[in-house]
Amino acid sequence: MRYTIHETSGTTGNPKAFFLIWQDWLRYSEKYARIFRSYGISRGDRVIVCASYGMNVGANMMTLAARRRGTTIIPAGKCTFPIRMIRNYRPTVVIGSVFKLIRLARRREADGIDPKESGIERLVVGGESFAEASRRYPSNLRDCEVYNTYGSTEGTMCGECVAKAGLHVPEDLIHMDLYSPRMDQFVRDGEYGRIILTKLLPVGERCGTFLINYDTEDATAVVSRDRCACGRDSASDQDTRAGG
Ligand SMILES: [Zn+2]
Repeated sequence: MRYTIHETSGTTGNPKAFFLIWQDWLRYSEKYARIFRSYGISRGDRVIVCASYGMNVGANMMTLAARRRGTTIIPAGKCTFPIRMIRNYRPTVVIGSVFKLIRLARRREADGIDPKESGIERLVVGGESFAEASRRYPSNLRDCEVYNTYGSTEGTMCGECVAKAGLHVPEDLIHMDLYSPRMDQFVRDGEYGRIILTKLLPVGERCGTFLINYDTEDATAVVSRDRCACGRDSASDQDTRAGG
């Protein structure tokens, strides 16, 4: 391929188009592979992807990331897949949006599948704002671990680790600034600010769409710069305000 054309989900205004060359695909899928690793997803796991394989990049990048991890992918593309797929293919991980996962849990309950016996060990939630309450709810229903991710369509990908102490930012690939609401200064650690992103490229590499000081319209706060219990050394507490 020469390059692929994508669109943001367009929650605010018109969708924006952006372009990815193969080097972008490799770098993006590396970000997703790191997050899989931080959740403990590995060879032998079977991951059912409920995110859609559409103009945004998530589902495709997860599939590519799985190749790096030696993980099996079940590309359902939506959470309304037949419940028999859980019986037939025994997925160990389900990736989807929180409301869809809650609906899926209800359908499974109605179908008489005991969460303890389903074999599903982890739920990965992404693509929208995420509250502790919604983490606990599907977790109770399913008796499994629930992890949060944040990804803007343009290519950030931050995820929690097993310590669940905030989202790790891949600082070698993305530079993140947090601005005050008036966009005239940076916020201090612990204060919420608007996420402004700049892509970082290794020397000699190229990209389809280069982002410099890109306004995600999302907000977050730096919760710690200390080394995390998992060994990584950056975390922020994600609060997605606007999506996109
Ligand atoms: Zn960590």
